[in-house]
Amino acid sequence: KEEEERPKLIENTEINNRKAFYVPVNRSDDIRVARMKLPVVVEEQQIMESIYENDVVIICGETGSGKTTQVPQFLYEAGFGHPDSENPGIVGVTQPRRVAAVSMAQRVATELNLSSEYVSHQIRFDSSVSKKTVIKFMTDGVLLKEIAKDFMLSSYSVLIIDEAHERSLNSDIAIGLVSRIVKLRREKEINGIVRPLKIIIMSATLRVDDFANNPNLFTPSPPVIHIKSRQFPVTIHFNKKTPDDYLDEAFKKICQIHSKLPAGGILVFLTGQNEVHALCKKLKSRYPSNSNQLESKISKEKTLIAKREEIDAGSFELDEDPDEVIEQVDSPVDESKIEDDFYLENDTKEPLHVLPLYALLPTDEQLKVFKEPPPGHRLCVVATNVAETSLTIPGISYVVDSGKVKERVHDAKSKMQSFKVDWTSKASADQRSGRAGRVGPGHCYRLYHSAVFDNNFEKFSKPEIERMPIEGVVLQMKSMHIDNVVNFPFPSPPNSQILFEAEKLLMSLEALDTNNKSITYIGRMMSAFPISPRFAKMIILGMNNNVLQWIIPLVAALSVGDPFVRDLENGIVNEKDSQDSEEKREKRKKYFQTHQTFAGKHPDSDSLKLLSAFCASEYSSNIEDFCNTHFLRPKAIKEMKQLKAQLISIARVINPKFCEKMKFDKVQPPNDSQRSIIKQIIASGFIDQIAKLKPKMSHEKAFKYQTLLSKEDALIHPSSCLFNESPPEFVVYEELVQTSHVYIKGLTAISESIIPIVARSQCTFSKPLDTPEPFYNSEKDKMICYVKPSFGTVLWELTPTPI
Ligand code: ADP
Ligand code: MG
Repeated sequence: KEEEERPKLIENTEINNRKAFYVPVNRSDDIRVARMKLPVVVEEQQIMESIYENDVVIICGETGSGKTTQVPQFLYEAGFGHPDSENPGIVGVTQPRRVAAVSMAQRVATELNLSSEYVSHQIRFDSSVSKKTVIKFMTDGVLLKEIAKDFMLSSYSVLIIDEAHERSLNSDIAIGLVSRIVKLRREKEINGIVRPLKIIIMSATLRVDDFANNPNLFTPSPPVIHIKSRQFPVTIHFNKKTPDDYLDEAFKKICQIHSKLPAGGILVFLTGQNEVHALCKKLKSRYPSNSNQLESKISKEKTLIAKREEIDAGSFELDEDPDEVIEQVDSPVDESKIEDDFYLENDTKEPLHVLPLYALLPTDEQLKVFKEPPPGHRLCVVATNVAETSLTIPGISYVVDSGKVKERVHDAKSKMQSFKVDWTSKASADQRSGRAGRVGPGHCYRLYHSAVFDNNFEKFSKPEIERMPIEGVVLQMKSMHIDNVVNFPFPSPPNSQILFEAEKLLMSLEALDTNNKSITYIGRMMSAFPISPRFAKMIILGMNNNVLQWIIPLVAALSVGDPFVRDLENGIVNEKDSQDSEEKREKRKKYFQTHQTFAGKHPDSDSLKLLSAFCASEYSSNIEDFCNTHFLRPKAIKEMKQLKAQLISIARVINPKFCEKMKFDKVQPPNDSQRSIIKQIIASGFIDQIAKLKPKMSHEKAFKYQTLLSKEDALIHPSSCLFNESPPEFVVYEELVQTSHVYIKGLTAISESIIPIVARSQCTFSKPLDTPEPFYNSEKDKMICYVKPSFGTVLWELTPTPI
């Protein structure tokens, strides 16, 4: 093929005293007509003037108004990115999702009649960037990586941060960073070194104030250009009753639409890939189509393998696409809940062109949604919230909305994070329904009652940064070499004291260097795990100490949280009553026996009790039965299993040799010395959460502990297996809770001698340590060590004994 020649830069008449250039574009007639319908095209001149006059411009407009596909073309035509122009740096466009980065690059290339050499994409495992690239679409994760390499972003003349309203962690951080880069480029420009950088922030019509009127970010406030949208009316239909199972309900609704309503594509919003596949399967078998059978097999492994290779190469990156991370911990779906033989009067025989769409789907499969369905077929796209704003699927007239979304949630108190399916926000439900009004008047079927929408839906979805554990966020920022997180200009900043505490914790976990607070080698490995840094540290230690086969299930269990059922119906455990039936008494007896079995003969750790319960469940062929007879929540145990599998796959990548021969299924209980190592590792994860037994006064009933984090004395929580035991001198705890008293929960007894080892950063030593290596090995190094709490001056004097 002949090499394409770069279009020339042509001089235009002067506009507003500015010498103007343009690059001619040869668009096809179809494209020209389609473009003219996009509301953003009308605003081209205003947008370009605003970009020339300001360093930062905000463009906000409804999804589908043409922002992503057209604004880069305006810049291209004005000469941005052309080597002969005065703005030779390329045009960068960021997207929170990979799928959008790839498909938008393709679309813009088609519209400009250029090849992917000129309009390119770059995502983590795939890039079409060349020397000729003028416009580059990338994920915001890729941009962050580039900023880490070249802070001035000197190869760019314009940077478009798209989908800013999504508030992904990466895009929030990117906006914070570019707010500084713009200023630097301005300063250097005065010195005549580089051209200024232009920033365009694009968002749907939501909450732009966090960017537009935020003096921390941009001064003066940047102009906001509102695109007047041309949306057709969408009729909203709420369900009269909120169904128990939205999957079954969605299936029925689609069948009804397909057989009764006029032509027009259907778009369905579900929460995860397993649901998407289950529903696609049922739809395909009810409305068979030749085209569906041809569809190639989907390999979700493809992306996972690539991910492993990446980590294998020694680079630990931020999660590039938040949806992908969420999809990796998808729960199994009970397909039998979709009643596929349900009767519908006059059910149609017309074929349905069913396509799945979710973040982990291979790119070529994702792009199928943009193609015309085969003749005579109605399009039906079954999607996760990927289809909510980044992609506008053509020809949709009906939206079926489960109202649900799977999100990362973080419990600030327990510092645990998990992935939960919950109601989405009002703003996002409205975005979803808007998808039906692009081609003509449309209909949105919300599979829930209007009262649920009014009362249970938040106004907006929370920014991702508020849903992430802050020490995890800080660790990830450090892995991007953002060392001063406390002064970082976040669009919505977390409390600085909390950031400071997070840094402190990371330093004591040895993830950050105590001198300059930069990330350490261990910290880099830790940042590869999508779990709290405490637990990630435990995994690294588990690897180094040959007990990984227990640490991984333990960490999975701790991350998911307490699976024990305590408040049994009719108060079986709590309220002992002489009137109790024989059955109740039996059950209570069994309950205590079960707990004793899990806790062991000499209970000394709630975490190890949890580990026993989880490991025991793996021996059972029927989880539900096992859970019912052992007073456990099946859902929690299933989640633990999934997280365990995910952690194993990451550990295999980080340390393939070590993990290769390791067996993670049906592990035997650890022996005594392994148990003691595991306990030390638990202590290393909770080093700031140590408590020491206080001397008991004669009048006191309960034993009290002093913690390093609270002035108030804490009691052992009744749920602990140590509650009725003789209290150990030192414990670490998972959680400090305040109800009628302050309680410590999730306890593990530890010996005094390990504190100076595992909690070294919390200790002050009576004489200087000459070697960083284990000082406790030799008799002559015997010394006194003090542990200092975060308040006051109380010191615990410890005498480390040589091990
Ligand atoms: P916005 O960014 O404002 O949400 P877009 O620029 O993404 O809007 O979309 C503008 C139009 O381009 C939409 O009508 C969309 O359907 C169309 N479009 C985008 N990508 C493709 C594609 N690959 N094939 C066909 N049409 C597309
Ligand atoms: Mg867009």
